[in-house]
Amino acid sequence: MIIKPKFRGFICTTSHPEGCAYSVQEQIKYVKQQRPIKGPQKVLVIGSSTGYGLASRIVSTFASGASTLGVFLEKPAANGNTATAGWYNTAAFEKAAAEAGYYAKSINGDAFSDQVKTKVIEQIREDLGQIDLVIYSIAAPRRTHPVTGEVFSSVIKPIGDSFTSKTVDLNSNEIVDVTLKPATEEEIRGTVAVMGGEDWERWMHQLKGAGVLAPGATTIGYSYIGPKITYPIYKEGTIGRAKDHLYATSKEINNQIKDIEGKAFVAVNKALITQASAAIPVVPLYLMLLSRVMDTKGLEENCIEQMYRLLGSKLCETKNLSSADQMIRVDDYEMRDDVQEEVAKLWEKACAGDLNIIPDLEEYRKEFFKLFGFGFDDVDYDKDVNENVPILSIQSQE
Ligand code: NAD
Repeated sequence: MIIKPKFRGFICTTSHPEGCAYSVQEQIKYVKQQRPIKGPQKVLVIGSSTGYGLASRIVSTFASGASTLGVFLEKPAANGNTATAGWYNTAAFEKAAAEAGYYAKSINGDAFSDQVKTKVIEQIREDLGQIDLVIYSIAAPRRTHPVTGEVFSSVIKPIGDSFTSKTVDLNSNEIVDVTLKPATEEEIRGTVAVMGGEDWERWMHQLKGAGVLAPGATTIGYSYIGPKITYPIYKEGTIGRAKDHLYATSKEINNQIKDIEGKAFVAVNKALITQASAAIPVVPLYLMLLSRVMDTKGLEENCIEQMYRLLGSKLCETKNLSSADQMIRVDDYEMRDDVQEEVAKLWEKACAGDLNIIPDLEEYRKEFFKLFGFGFDDVDYDKDVNENVPILSIQSQE
């Protein structure tokens, strides 16, 4: 099959197996060039197939030599459709891990369900005994509650008042006004149920109850805060409310795993183009300008660099955090005053129509398509490729 990108709405509906494999290889290459990390050796990554979760898994494996178990919700190729990018990423990751002699197994299913939690616990018991790091990196549009069966949807809306701002129209390449109506109470509740900490706590509760958390185990959930420009749509909106809940949950989990000397943290990561963030209005324009400023200052990082810094140095520094503070800031470069001042200036110029954003848009688009394995110079996109790529551990379970 010759695979070309097909763009619909905020996503690309095709993925390229060789492009995704190339992107995973590049991330592994970066990690191997860094110094090794003396880190956890048995790691569970929930949301491990793309973005921050995938990068966390790659760093754990190739910098710390850890055995990893990954959980995600992806589709294999079927009926002439390609697999999802996360499927191809995992296939490439597992292959590379196996070639290097590392344990890596994956479970494809709904992480919000109790069935998947039970399956993961069984797998840990069978292969690893106990785990010492649990990364929670889920970004999902909806969640079916495992007890009540209620289906919650996550929305990205302001709270209280409507919010009008500038956003970039990726079809026309123009900066346009966007007005977002405030969320209803129901929508706030839904977003907190999907993107808040309830499911994370459920995972930790069940893992601990099953005795598969090692003494001194750590767990990290991922969050974002961002600058004032995006406050109404992010920090002070529905998603920010969910992230507040995630942070409050980290404190509860921390108390619950204290008796085994466990610790729970929230890592506040940098804003980056991923499948999740591309769908948030206002954010793509901010990301373009942020990337321009951080590039100029030599501070730009992508998922793998962020996760290497989190697991390689930031996590060790938590020893100095007060016990009341479970927040690790990996967004420190993004939030630097000089960076934010520059971004704010560019934002004003862009909104006034005084900034040529075409190069930024092109760069953004390139990065976006790379998430699906397209746009790498070293990959031949005219070549006929087999879209049916197995994930080693999933194939062996079937
Ligand atoms: P992503 O879309 O790249 O990854 C999401 C992961 O969740 C994938 O592995 C996907 O398969 C998995 N997933 C989704 N629904 C699932 C389900 N029901 N069951 C099992 N797996 C499921 O997203 P990302 O941007 O890497 O986000 C991960 C976390 O990082 C989120 O909490 C997000 O808020 C946070 N974060 C993102 C950014 C950013 O700019 N992208 C910044 C800071 C923090």
